[in-house]
Amino acid sequence: MMIHFLPKLSHYSRLAFLGFILFSFTASFTYLGQAQTKKQKSVLFVWGGWQGHEPEKCRDLFVPWLKKQGFSVEVSHTLDAYLNQEKMQSYDLIIQVYTMGKITGGQEKGLLNAVRSGVGLAGWHGGLGDSFRNNTNYQFMVGGQWVAHPGGIIDYVVNIKDHQDPVTKGLSDFKMHSEQYYMHVDPGVKVLATTTFSGKYIPWIKGVVMPVVWKKMYGKGRVFYSSLGHAAKDFELPEVLEIMQRGILWAARVKD
Ligand SMILES: [Zn+2]
Repeated sequence: MMIHFLPKLSHYSRLAFLGFILFSFTASFTYLGQAQTKKQKSVLFVWGGWQGHEPEKCRDLFVPWLKKQGFSVEVSHTLDAYLNQEKMQSYDLIIQVYTMGKITGGQEKGLLNAVRSGVGLAGWHGGLGDSFRNNTNYQFMVGGQWVAHPGGIIDYVVNIKDHQDPVTKGLSDFKMHSEQYYMHVDPGVKVLATTTFSGKYIPWIKGVVMPVVWKKMYGKGRVFYSSLGHAAKDFELPEVLEIMQRGILWAARVKD
């Protein structure tokens, strides 16, 4: 017993000492508990826009996974969530699945300010890369804008370009049967995966190497984009899901 290690102390001193130990333990656990609560990451998941990209199905795929990762998740079916400046600054990450929508000046400002101040942004396909065609400031933040998908749903290959980055590490090239996005891309992004156009559907783009997955900064915010995910079932391909999930964790600064 601990009391035997304190033979020279009086009875009251022993009690005081044990009390102090007990208090220290309790205080440490309370502190750890607080630290853990403080560390919980929060996500705003915004979905809507063109239904062809199945934003609702994607919400039901990613929101439960986010919760499983320990995120607190707020789901919004309207871009008005971007208007609450104070709340926006408090998130760790914003995921947006919103194709071919219209964003107001105030909503756009709220989103851009939040990301610039350090909130992460992640998304895929048209939900992030073809959201607001009139908004160049938004496109500047994302790092690219969809312009074509020659041939519609076709067979193509995704080539992993960066084998060191945590998002694509350990992954090999893989085949897709979906839309092959042709995008206008900011040369400043860090490209993690690409695809090459065969020229079968549009001959003059034969051999064009197009970024598929990238990461970048916008102010202090991390931005992650993957052009894969035309339909919810595209995420049944393990590589497509893995890339998106890893990208989300990177953008939310889960590890650093
Ligand atoms: Zn699509």
